[in-house]
Amino acid sequence: MKIECDGIVHNPLGGASYMFEKEIIPYILKQYTKNTIKISVGAQPNSSPHFGTLETIALSFCLASSIMKYDKNKKVIILYEVIDSAPSETSVINRIKYQKSLKYTGKMNVSLGEYLEILEYYKNLTGITYEIRFQKEFNSQPEISGIIKKIINNREYINSRLDPKYGKIRIRMSCPKCGLTDKNSILNKYNDNKIIFYCPVHGEYSANLDIDTSLLEYNSPYRNLIRCLYYTLVNNNSDYDYQILRVTGSDYAGFYQEEMRYKIASYLGYPAHTLSMIFYAPLVLDWSGAKMSKSLYVKEGAYSDIPVAFINYKYLKEKYGLNGLKKLYNIVSNWFENPYMLFRHYTIYYFIKEFEKNE
Ligand SMILES: [Zn+2]
Repeated sequence: MKIECDGIVHNPLGGASYMFEKEIIPYILKQYTKNTIKISVGAQPNSSPHFGTLETIALSFCLASSIMKYDKNKKVIILYEVIDSAPSETSVINRIKYQKSLKYTGKMNVSLGEYLEILEYYKNLTGITYEIRFQKEFNSQPEISGIIKKIINNREYINSRLDPKYGKIRIRMSCPKCGLTDKNSILNKYNDNKIIFYCPVHGEYSANLDIDTSLLEYNSPYRNLIRCLYYTLVNNNSDYDYQILRVTGSDYAGFYQEEMRYKIASYLGYPAHTLSMIFYAPLVLDWSGAKMSKSLYVKEGAYSDIPVAFINYKYLKEKYGLNGLKKLYNIVSNWFENPYMLFRHYTIYYFIKEFEKNE
């Protein structure tokens, strides 16, 4: 099958693109009133950053730059949250799934270097600085202990929604001796302010929620909720001189956040209108309209129809050098100049055509 394309890009308005056709920054600043804003962006450094991740990072820097241009009194910083607790190896023991994290296996260091190169490039291009925070530092924040206790105290309600399959609190901790982690929290036990975990080799070990939160790990829906509540507490606390705004891919927009974030935060007593904001990056889609997936490419060799430069950072750099990042930034920059372009998705062919225009 040959797919025809007339090369003309349409941007029909509707929903948010209609609301924010000409301006988006003033709306964001209604809620982000402190002088410093940290734009949080996260990634699991388990392979070369894929094209969609690059787009999200470029968009974060461009959003920061757009805010600072609009209001000269604002200082905006990128906060790169590294998900080093993401699984690196998995195994099954006594019919229970275990994993070892990127942090434990050390597999993250190679691609983390690529992420740092990208952040450094965009810092030099835009003048926007960045901070890096690992999960251990995130979990060491004083607000986390109270949030985790609240989740545990309301686990029946939360688990039925965030973990409909197992009905478990998907909070885990690696065995301090071997790094094995009960992926689905099947054998966890809870008492007072303690979670007791079980390693099939070394037996029980525990986390005291008053002092050991730095060691905790979460699956995506729990991490999403915990991050939301923590950012919200920071944003609404005048002891912090900054507020945090999250940028993430649009695959997490809509039904997912409404059900997994807003309703649950509301149930836990956090009014929805006080919650931290998420700004969604347009998705990068394949020919059929599905999100381009990093793991499909890595594991199954998908996307034979797409030039490899548009698959991940390693190949983009091979073809375009660091100038590839500049080309991508220019595309995203055009979206901020025409904000209706921020509220839709783009196929990978759109990016290929845009890159070709300037060759
Ligand atoms: Zn162990």
